[in-house]
Amino acid sequence: MEKQKKISEIKKRISEGENPENIIKETLEAVKNSTLNNYIYKDDTLAFHSLEEAKKHRDGKLFGVPIAIKDNINIKDYPTTCGSKILSNYISPYDATVITKLKQEGAVFIGKTNMDEFAMGSSTEFSAYGPAKNPFDPDYVPGGSSGGSASTVGAGEVPAALGSDTGGSIRLPAAFCGVYGLKPTYGSVSRYGLVAFASSLDQIGPIAANVEDIELIYNIISGVDEKDSTSLPPNPGNKHFNIKEIKIGIPEEYFQGIDERIHNRIDEVIKTFGNMGAKIKKISLPHTKYSVPTYYIIAPAEASSNLARYDGVRYGLRIKGKDARETILLTRDEGFGEEVKRRIMIGTFVLSSGYYEAYYERALRVRTIIKEEFDRAMQDVDVILIPTAPELPFRLGEKIEDPVKMYLSDVMTVSANLAGNPALAVPCGFIQKFPCSFQLIGRPFDEKTLFELTKIYERERDGI
Ligand code: GLN
Repeated sequence: MEKQKKISEIKKRISEGENPENIIKETLEAVKNSTLNNYIYKDDTLAFHSLEEAKKHRDGKLFGVPIAIKDNINIKDYPTTCGSKILSNYISPYDATVITKLKQEGAVFIGKTNMDEFAMGSSTEFSAYGPAKNPFDPDYVPGGSSGGSASTVGAGEVPAALGSDTGGSIRLPAAFCGVYGLKPTYGSVSRYGLVAFASSLDQIGPIAANVEDIELIYNIISGVDEKDSTSLPPNPGNKHFNIKEIKIGIPEEYFQGIDERIHNRIDEVIKTFGNMGAKIKKISLPHTKYSVPTYYIIAPAEASSNLARYDGVRYGLRIKGKDARETILLTRDEGFGEEVKRRIMIGTFVLSSGYYEAYYERALRVRTIIKEEFDRAMQDVDVILIPTAPELPFRLGEKIEDPVKMYLSDVMTVSANLAGNPALAVPCGFIQKFPCSFQLIGRPFDEKTLFELTKIYERERDGI
C-alpha cells in the first residue's frame, strides 16, 4: 500500500514548479490500478476537464490538488448514481455548492466514489456496483456508506475526498480505513446538490489523512448558502486555544459492550490528553441506548419521502409498463436494491396512519431528549470523547444477511447526527492489522476546538 498523501506535499510540488498535470496523471494511474473497487466513475475526462477549469484558479487554496467525490454529490455534466441502478444513466445538470466552492479554489475532481445505495449502509456492500474493499485487507469492508472515499484516501491514492454522513457514513469508514473524517455541525455545510437521504440528518464533510487537510477543506466548503435554507454562517467567536482550559467529557455509556482492545486503546488516548493538561471528566448520557432505534425510525421515514421522486418519469431508469402505475412499480422494483426497499417499507410504515404517533412522533420526542442531553453535557465540558466504531472492520459478507447487526455498527455515530453536533474521527494506531479510531464531538459550530485538540494529539502520537 502507498503512503497516505498530504495536501501540503502536493501544493509544495506545484509551488516548486511541477506541472499539475503530472500529479493528476500519477493520481489517475493509482486510481485505475486500484483493486479496491472504490470508484463508480473514474474516467480521465472528468479529471482533465476539471484540471482545465482549475487553471483559472491558480491562486486557489487547492490548485492542482486531486479530490475524490462521493457519488451522491452532483458535479455538472457527470454521472451521479448514488450507488443505485435507478440512477445508472443520470447526468447531473448542476454543481453542488460544495463543488462550486472547491472549483473556485482550483481543486481537481478525480472521480466519483463507491457507496452504499443512497448512502444506506455501514459497509459499502449495498452498492449496486459491487462492494468497495478495505485498503488494509481486501477481504474486509471499508465501512460505509462513504466506503469508496475512505478507501481511496486510506490507500494513498488521493489526499482527500468528500463523503456524506447521515448516521456515521463519514466517520465509520474513516475509522475502518485509518483516516480522518469530519461530520460537520448540521447546517454548517450546504446540502444543495447532495442527493437527499434523510434531510434533517445529512451533512457533507471531508475525509483526509491528517487534521490540517480536514480543516482546510472544511473551511472551504462551509458557510451559509442561499440555496440551502438550513445552512447557517460559521461561529465567528474564535478565541485562543489552550489545552489546559479544555474539559473532555467521557460518557460511560459509549464504552459498554465494545471490543476490549478498542476500549484499552481509547483509555490510552484519554490518558494522553490528560497528560497534556486537559481536564478529564466522567459524564453520563443515559439516553444513548435509544439512539440507534430512534435513528432507524427517523432516517427511513425521511428516506421514504425523499425517494418517492424516483418514479421512472422524472429521473433515471424507466421500465415501461402498460400504464403509469405499472411503470412506477416496475421501475422501483428493478431500480432499487434490497436495503433501500427495506428502508422505504420501514419509513412508510412508521409514517402511516395509526402508527405515526407510536413510532415517528415518539422518535422525534426522543431525539429532542437526546439533543437536550448533549446540550446539557456540553455546558460542562468542551468536547466529548468516545470510540468511533464499537469493533474493528468485519469481513465482506459477515453482516449482510442481518440488518440489525449492520445497524448496530452505528451505535457510536448516530447520536451526533440526531443532536446536530460536529464530530471528528481520529486514527489512534493499529490493533493487529487494522486501524483504531476515536471520536471527538464538539459544541455546535465549534469545529475549531476539535481541530486544535486533534493537532496537539497528532503531534504527540507521531512523536513530533
Ligand atoms: N449506516 C447508517 C445507515 O445505514 C448511516 C448511513 C449514513 O450516514 N449515510 O443509515
